[in-house]
Amino acid sequence: MKKSIYNLYTENGDGRKIIYNSFTGKQVRFEKEMEKEYENVLTDNFHQIRKEHLEVLMASGILVDVEEFHELNNFYNGIVFNQDFLEITVLPTDACNFRCIYCYQTGPYHKMELDTANGLLMFLEKNCMKYKRILLGWFGGEPLLQKDMVIYVTERVKNMCKKNGIAFVSRMSTNGYELDLDTAKSLIKNSLLFYQITIDGTKETHNIQRPHIANGDSYEKIIYNLKEIKNNIRSSQLSIACRINVSERNYRVLDSFLDEFKEQFGDDTRFKVVVEPVHDWGGENIEKNKDLVIDDRLCEIVKRFCELAAKKEVHVLMPMDFGRGNLLCEASRKNSLVFNFNGDLLKCTSAIYTGGIAQDINRIGHIDKQGNCHINENWEKQWLKREDDELMDRYGCRNCIGYPLCGGSSCVLATNIIKADVCENKQRIADYIEGIVVYNDLTGKYLEIA
Ligand code: SF4
Ligand code: SF4
Repeated sequence: MKKSIYNLYTENGDGRKIIYNSFTGKQVRFEKEMEKEYENVLTDNFHQIRKEHLEVLMASGILVDVEEFHELNNFYNGIVFNQDFLEITVLPTDACNFRCIYCYQTGPYHKMELDTANGLLMFLEKNCMKYKRILLGWFGGEPLLQKDMVIYVTERVKNMCKKNGIAFVSRMSTNGYELDLDTAKSLIKNSLLFYQITIDGTKETHNIQRPHIANGDSYEKIIYNLKEIKNNIRSSQLSIACRINVSERNYRVLDSFLDEFKEQFGDDTRFKVVVEPVHDWGGENIEKNKDLVIDDRLCEIVKRFCELAAKKEVHVLMPMDFGRGNLLCEASRKNSLVFNFNGDLLKCTSAIYTGGIAQDINRIGHIDKQGNCHINENWEKQWLKREDDELMDRYGCRNCIGYPLCGGSSCVLATNIIKADVCENKQRIADYIEGIVVYNDLTGKYLEIA
């Protein structure tokens, strides 16, 4: 028996010791009079730990008798090279009806033509039987500027999957402005059930940080759309993650944002909040608004957000909520592709705008208008490299608390293509874990050593 290499040792605001395990996502809290047991774990004095406590520590993965790294590695190889699952994220346009002040997309803008979309459908007609599950994602620009095309393609892929006994699900990142009730009904009817919609705080901060091209109050319209959906659509499978991009300018309204969310959506567990600090996602806009970026305060922000959300009983969605594999970058999976408005097949949506060789390697192929797929295997291979000792050593993946969540591939653009010196996600994941520990502690999601 030994301690897991994926334990975080910390304490809560009352000074109670806590161990969180990122492999299992379980948390154990030691009551004050049981601090000795905590010390016993730290000092490997396992024979001194009471039997009933040992059981809790084993069940939570804090003490283990397996080689966790190898177990995880096998698990991740299974996901990365999984042949049963196809995930296609479609970018029907790079245009947008918003001009967010941190956005990397600036135009000129393009949109997908019908024959390009039909090329994708023909490709799926010819190949869908190879898969047991298909996930169709929608991203942009703003995908709902191509509403009719989104509905057209989703409906056909859904029917194709139904006919062939393939599991199908669809998701979308949208600014929510065009997601009126009729649109939502058409999409949900076709299994587009997962949405991420960004609301940057209160009306005041949202409208400044995420201005619409013509409407000075897009906040009002988005909230109206979401309330209509909440009140009129009964599907229990629907999931709407409302994401706040926290910057130096809207940090002060976090409290009010959560109050408003609670009042409007707090009684519906299908609606959750997600926190994401504004980051330099590239492009010209962020250069002019560098003061928005608060990466260095991520831990403080996430902890504050989690503390407020727990106290207000607001449902939150954290990056690790889906468990193992959730932080594995999509681009690292063989069967995960981005289908661009012009028919290009890409690996990473961010690399579209990097320029240079990374942008070239990102375009691993295309689907032509007859539905034939052409892939440059040499370029594809670079995104899929795993278990490379040099890579693992460079970033210290084996003992990283994030490894159970990302499998050493949290951003293959940075690690495999750009070959960055450090993994930025290492600290980010650790910061998020600190937040989830606070949330679990305040909401009672822990096992107790008492
Ligand atoms: S160093 Fe980065 S890529 Fe490696 S396990 Fe940690 S978070 Fe993942
Ligand atoms: S490679 Fe990095 S930037 Fe690209 S999709 Fe993956 S995590 Fe995102």
